[in-house]
Order: sequence, then C-alpha cells, then structure tokens
Amino acid sequence: MSASQMLSYPLRLPDVAQADALRVLDASREVINATLVALWPRLDAFGTRESKYAYQQVTALIGPSSPHGDRQWRCEAEQAGRILRGQAQRKKQFTLILPLLEQGMILPKLEKKPARKNRQAIKAALVALQEEDSDGGKAVELQSLIEQCCNFYLKNGCFPDFYEEMQAVPVLKVGILPYAGDDGGASGQAYRFRVDLEGRCCYLAFRFPDTQGVWAKGWTEPQLRLPLPDPVVKRLQTGESLAPTLREIVEPDGTRCAVLDLILEVPVTPSPDLKRVQRVLGWDWGVRTLVTATVVDLSGNRLSPPLFLDTGGLDGRQAHTRRHIDRLKRKVAKLEARRDQWPRGDKRRDPSEKKLAVLRREIARCWRKYQARNNDLAHLAANILILLATVWEVELIAGESLKSLKAEGRGRSAKGRWVRWRNNSQIRGALWHVLRYKCHLSGLHLVWQHPKGTTHSCPRCGKPADTYEDPALSAKQLDAGPWLRCFACGWNGARDYAAAINIALLGVAFLVQEREHEHHTMPHKRPTMKTKPLNSASYSGAGLALRLPPTSLRGRLLHAGKLFVNGWITSVTLHSALSQDTMLRLCG
Ligand SMILES: [Zn+2]
Repeated sequence: MSASQMLSYPLRLPDVAQADALRVLDASREVINATLVALWPRLDAFGTRESKYAYQQVTALIGPSSPHGDRQWRCEAEQAGRILRGQAQRKKQFTLILPLLEQGMILPKLEKKPARKNRQAIKAALVALQEEDSDGGKAVELQSLIEQCCNFYLKNGCFPDFYEEMQAVPVLKVGILPYAGDDGGASGQAYRFRVDLEGRCCYLAFRFPDTQGVWAKGWTEPQLRLPLPDPVVKRLQTGESLAPTLREIVEPDGTRCAVLDLILEVPVTPSPDLKRVQRVLGWDWGVRTLVTATVVDLSGNRLSPPLFLDTGGLDGRQAHTRRHIDRLKRKVAKLEARRDQWPRGDKRRDPSEKKLAVLRREIARCWRKYQARNNDLAHLAANILILLATVWEVELIAGESLKSLKAEGRGRSAKGRWVRWRNNSQIRGALWHVLRYKCHLSGLHLVWQHPKGTTHSCPRCGKPADTYEDPALSAKQLDAGPWLRCFACGWNGARDYAAAINIALLGVAFLVQEREHEHHTMPHKRPTMKTKPLNSASYSGAGLALRLPPTSLRGRLLHAGKLFVNGWITSVTLHSALSQDTMLRLCG
C-alpha cells in the first residue's frame, strides 16, 4: 500500500450562499451537541473502531434529536462520532501517562490507581497509540493532555481518578459538518459535489433550512460554482478529492463566515530510513514560572512550543500555610509569656501548657504539609520534563546547573517570599535530585549547563539582550524583566522561554562536542553561552498550526476526529501557547 496524506483547503463560499450555509451549520451544531451530551457517558464505546465511518458507531447507539433527513443526520453523527473517538483516544492516553505523572507523588486514593508503569512501557504504548492514529499533531496533542492533567493537579491537589473528571462534555462552539456521512457526488441527499479539473473549479449544492427553520426537499439550483486555487488543481492531478466539510469561521470581532474544506488525499513518497533523529529538551528555572521547557533538534531548530509550569495556585496554598504557621507561632509566644507569669511547678501553668501542646502539634502538622507539597512539586516538575522528553522523542535533557541562585521573587508578601525561597533553595535541589534518578531509571541523559548569560542572550542571534517589564517597545528595562527583546535581530519573547532555548542549545553543543571528542580521554570544558557554536534560527513545531487561526492543518485535524476543547487557552497555570498575548498574560 502506498503512503498517502490528507490535505484540506478551505474555500470561502460565495456571499449568496453564506446565510444558508450558516443556518445549516447552526442547525447541525444543535444536533451534534445533543448527541455528544447523550453519548458522553458511553465514551469508552468509541475507544475501538469497528468501521471507517464514525457515524456508524453513533447511529448504532442513538437516533437524531431533531431529524432533518437521514443523510443529514449521518453527517451530524459523523462529526459527533469523530469527537467522541478523539476523546476516547485521549482517555486512553490519559490512563497511560497518569502513572508517570504520579510517580513519587502523594496519592490520597492509592487503592484506586493502576499499577505503576515505567517510562519505556509508557513510551511503547504511546507509540502504539500514535500509530493507530497516524496523522499530525501527536506530540502537541499529548502535551496538551499533560498540561490539562497538571492544571487539574495544581487546582485540586490531586490528579483526576477518571478522564471525565477533568474533561467536560466537549461541545462544539462553532459549526462544522463533515459531508462524509453522505454519498455525495451526483446522488447525495445532504450535499452534491463535483470537481471540474479542466474548468479549474468545483460545483456544490447543499440542503439547508430556510429562515423559518424548514428544510427544503429540493436542491439549491443552479449549483454554486467555486473556483479552485492553483495548488489545489495541482494536488488534484495526482490525488483524489474526498467528501468535503462545511465549516464556520468566527472572526475575533464576531463576524461569521462559512467555508467548504476540500479534503484531498494525495500520495506521498515514503521517507528514507534515516538515523534516529536526535533532540534535546532544555529547561530553565523560571522566575514567573517554576519551570519553562522547550525541545530543539541538533541544528538548533525549536520543535516544540514552550511549556510553562506556573505554580500559581500552589504558590497561594503554600503562602497560606506559611502565614498560618506564622500566626500559630505568635500564639505560642503569647501563651509562653502567660505561662511564665508563674514559677515552674505552679498549677496555674497547666492550662497554657495544654494549649501549647495542641499548638505545637498543629505547627508540626503544617510544616509536614508544607514540605510534602514542595516534595510533590519537585516530583511534578520532574515527571513533566520526563513526559515531555518521551512525547517529543528526546534522549537528552539539559538543565541549568544548581550553582547559580536566583535572588528574585515577587515582592515582600508571604507569596513573594515563598517564591523567592523556592527558587533558591530546597525545591531546586529536590527537583534536580528527583530528576536525576528518574532520568537514570528512564534511560535519559541529564546534563547540567552553565546558566551564565542564558537569561540575557538572544536565542536567535546569540547576542546579549536586555529584559523588559513587558513586551511593549516602550517598556522599561529591568534586570530581571519577564520579556526579552533583542535589538540586534528583533527576536522577542518570554525571558524564561529564551533561557530554556539557550540551555537546550548548550545541551546540543555539549552533545556535538562529546561526539567529536569521543576518543579523547582528557575532559574538556563544557560549552558556555560565549563558546557555544549554534543559535536557534527557526521554529518548526509540528502541529503549531493548532494555535493559529483556522488553517488547512486545523481542518485536517478536525477531519481526523481530533478536537481540542480542553480549555488550555484560558488556563493560567500551565501553558504552551506561543501567541504573544498569552505570554503577556503569563508574564504580567
Ligand atoms: Zn537576536
């Protein structure tokens, strides 16, 4: 069987058809969402695929909530089924990655948890799952799942017992209707479609409700003629056009428009069996975030979107515990003063002594809780880094050496003091310690790097760069500002992200150097920001398009039954989006 790839090209429908198309999308969306709600409790049924078409699984279980014709229902069921299949797949991945995330962490409901698995087993299982489902966005998708799990943890102090505990019913917010459930061509009942390659156009007709919501029996005649762009014509000469998808695009200002995604299946040349690609994950101790991580290849290209682990909610709880301890200590001091009014052996000391014993137990309990959370955080951060390495097929993790201490925090408040403390002390040591043994167990290399200059150098051109209060060009320059801007080449981004890239680059430099000097016995100097030979010119993240406005890739992913509805865009605790305003929210 020759390899092929699915591509999708959105064609904007002509103005004359826009209102009709949006009405059909609205009506379908209601049916699709009702179907999703009805079938969500039976999600596991979608974990196995007995048929190519998702609608067959749906229609076997349920009928339409409001019928607009059998083939129209099939198309709606197809979309609902794709979403449920995607979610069922995600649920399987969730059960795979959860044990790795949980390793070494406090598990209040231990008896319910599945047996621990090691990274190799999880890696093999993830590979198998990915192969089952082999088009695009894999690692990005997994990263989003990890983020969702960790956000749940940071909010609730435990991981969810069930996937559905952290994932609400995924309802459609914008309309989408895959016509794959209909026969199409000349005999379709929901749509008709034909490509005229000679005429470099295609013809479309579709059924829709009128403004009163009544569905016509007949057809939009004459059919709509949609011109085909050159790249599509070119692709169609070697490929094949599949059932298209009607989709709605909502602009930021609320304007809606309907597009038809042409879906093409084109042959691809199988890639030659290259040597295993080598990748390095770099991570940095953030100031605003606990850990920032990213993945680069040996040429310095960034492969993954940045991941920020911001412990905001946990910071608050730790600060609260610290304040509580301070209050208890003040009470102890008062009680001791009251007790000491009387000499030793005096009976009047007893009431205070009793209260003091209770308070001291309470203080000890709070300290234990506080330490346990720190320990948990170290495990969480280490687990995330190892999981990211697994997802992105990384074999070497580079982190800043512990010799440097960052004397930065967020003010004099209890929270600020805690952040400063955790950046400087125990928790960094704990993370390094935990990460080291976990990497060892997982067969990953962990290599420390010189942190000097990593937060104040441009990751793209390598020149020294300053950091600023915010991304605005007029922003005030600060020694430890959250935003790095390079005036030599124009690169700008979150400072912690720049540092993570630089550390990853140092890791690559180290790797390259080790290989070149394989046969030398003399130890050589570890690369520094001054001596490292490469920079990170480009970002080539697979699946990046997920975060951009609708593009053909997104259409393709939707076509493949994957829908990203986990709310990471609004998340503030753990993030990997690249857009500047998300960074702003994170850093501000
Ligand atoms: Zn630069």
